[in-house]
Amino acid sequence: MSHSIEIVNAKFPCGPFRAAIFDFDGTLSLIRRGWQDVMIPMMVEILQEVGSNESEESLTQLVTEFVTRLTGRQTIYQMIELAEQVVQRGGTPLDPLDYKQEYHRRLWAGVEQRIATIRNGKVAAETMTILGSQHLIEQLVQSGLTLYLASGTDIDYVRDELELLELHSHFGERVYGALDDYKKFSKAMLIHQIIRDTGVTGSQLIGFGDGYVEIEEIKRVGGLAIGVASDEYDRQGVDEWKRDRLIQAGADIIVPNYQQHEELLSTIGVML
Ligand SMILES: [Mg+2]
Repeated sequence: MSHSIEIVNAKFPCGPFRAAIFDFDGTLSLIRRGWQDVMIPMMVEILQEVGSNESEESLTQLVTEFVTRLTGRQTIYQMIELAEQVVQRGGTPLDPLDYKQEYHRRLWAGVEQRIATIRNGKVAAETMTILGSQHLIEQLVQSGLTLYLASGTDIDYVRDELELLELHSHFGERVYGALDDYKKFSKAMLIHQIIRDTGVTGSQLIGFGDGYVEIEEIKRVGGLAIGVASDEYDRQGVDEWKRDRLIQAGADIIVPNYQQHEELLSTIGVML
């Protein structure tokens, strides 16, 4: 069970598909795995400093809820919510951008080290990807689909890390990520841009993601949503917590990774 393809919605859209949109972190890349374990404690710490008398446990629960709900949107939105929570407790928040920078500073220590081990050849790039990513991408392209990448992580990092993982060639210029001017990008905006500019319809789109946002947005336009509930440390098996949340968000199909990419593609009617 844990290695198989789980059909959640028996009436999932079955194409013919013309384009696929991938989230990046947790959907293709493992370079930033564990980011939640950096973001959540940082936010709890900040809320504790405001001097509210809530327990660490209840603050952790509160923060986990909104961080999860906003996963897939640009990081700044999680920081905007943090600032709002500070205000609600009578504190004076920093600019959300300052919170984002502090989060990135803390996260970067681990990320930088992983990047270095790939760059200096100590670790194969493939080991920092969701299993089967390369094969899945190649088969989608061979089947005539156009691929897009859309991430909530800052665009320059996304481009670097995508290339480091050797997954960039099939995406070309179609790589999108968080912008300083954050109102200029969202996954919803990208989906609408694809529909408007390429003539691809919503039901001809496949979305791959491990966050709420990409699943909800792809369902909103009638596309097929594939939830990637990967155990990011084992690289095998389903993370049950992610699975539950992806199903809540509306995922049609759940996969642990793309090891069974051929079976997955034949299930959804993408033929070579
Ligand atoms: Mg993700």
